[in-house]
Amino acid sequence: MARHGTTARALLTAATTLTLLSGCVVVWSSDDPAPAPRRTSVPGNGLGDGGAPGSPEEANRVAQNALADAERFWSTAYPQLAGGAAFEPIRGGFHPYTRNDPPPGCGDAPGEYLPNAYFCQPDDFIAWDAEALLPQLYGDFGPLLAAVVLAHEYGHAIQTRLGVSGQPSVVLEQQADCYAGAWVGDVAAGRSGAFPAPSVQELDDTVAGLLQLRDEPGTSAENPQAHGNAFDRIRAFQDGVEQSATRCAEYNARNLPITEVPFTSAQEAANGGDLPYDQALELLGTDVQQYWARAYPQLAAGAQWAPLRIVPFDDDAPACDGRTTSPDAQAFYCATGGFVAFDNARLGPALYDRIGDNALGMLLGGLFAQAAQERRGRSSTDRDGRLATDCLAGTWTYDLLRRGTDSDVRLSPGDLDEAVTALLTLGRSEQNAAAGAFDRIAGFRDGALEGLPACQS
Ligand SMILES: [Zn+2]
Repeated sequence: MARHGTTARALLTAATTLTLLSGCVVVWSSDDPAPAPRRTSVPGNGLGDGGAPGSPEEANRVAQNALADAERFWSTAYPQLAGGAAFEPIRGGFHPYTRNDPPPGCGDAPGEYLPNAYFCQPDDFIAWDAEALLPQLYGDFGPLLAAVVLAHEYGHAIQTRLGVSGQPSVVLEQQADCYAGAWVGDVAAGRSGAFPAPSVQELDDTVAGLLQLRDEPGTSAENPQAHGNAFDRIRAFQDGVEQSATRCAEYNARNLPITEVPFTSAQEAANGGDLPYDQALELLGTDVQQYWARAYPQLAAGAQWAPLRIVPFDDDAPACDGRTTSPDAQAFYCATGGFVAFDNARLGPALYDRIGDNALGMLLGGLFAQAAQERRGRSSTDRDGRLATDCLAGTWTYDLLRRGTDSDVRLSPGDLDEAVTALLTLGRSEQNAAAGAFDRIAGFRDGALEGLPACQS
């Protein structure tokens, strides 16, 4: 979040970026703010037996199964993208490597141990760190994320076979994410003998893992090593899951909405784009109110927006007849009282500290969207209503993304990822949720990219 009137005092120094190496690389960044990883147990899911979850042996088995299953998928999907041409599987093999057993050289580059996974174009092979990276991803986010990392690398092999060239790195990376999603979509349709259809929780875990694999906030999309922020990478992955590889093949620099932007001032880079807690809360609270005063008449056939009070509470939640969320949700909309309330001792600070200032934006934006949804006479709690509410929350972001530099508030790099992370965190904390975080993020993104017309249904 950036506030009008803040000025750059020094030249922008390069923000810390992930050390991205050759070709496609995923690098584990353990200091990234992200939802707490959830260790996923995978009893009897057909992913293999043997090592414990997170063991190198088990992660390796999943990686090998994923690559074999990706070849099954591409033998059918590739001809559809290539005018009927037959699919040629990878010729150079699959190479798990460790410190003591480094990967083969790639072209002129000698093989060396790096915490990566990559596709080597000159020698047509896929290699991955079987000692640290894959076991860690598997242990923290479950087998599906480990498989998706390898399916992403296979996506680069597909690009080579299709002769894709002349696209910036960020497009190629998101297309590979999309291709990995297309494979997951095929698995979800029950066509894989090796992997069962993923559960809602497994998809959510995978999205949480993608959040970890994003670029560092402030990375320019023009950076030759850029992979994309989490908002864009998750969109690419979901495009593939929901729309198939044909959609991915359409990606190019002209048609792909890239939301990744560099910091605009040294101050913004220094504070990571985060305003102090109280200032963020005040600015966001004022802005979301003004936004709905403008937007609600468009949504509700000209009806005016009645101001909604924001009631932060410390210990006891304010009383309300007929509030619409559970008592332990720590935040709720009170229709009869005309207010929204949230726990300002625990929930607000926890979101801010763990994720960033726009996690507060997601909290407030979600509550106001819930009010808008209910005020227009729709449910905000069943599945469709929940997704529509997330879409409405996204429309405020749509509006913020179009602000000029003279606006009181505008989004800074990382804010979209913070919103998605908050949605994942808040969504997962709900018991018996009507919709999983995977679908809720898609709903939010629809609103954020298309505005109110996306949420009319
Ligand atoms: Zn890649």
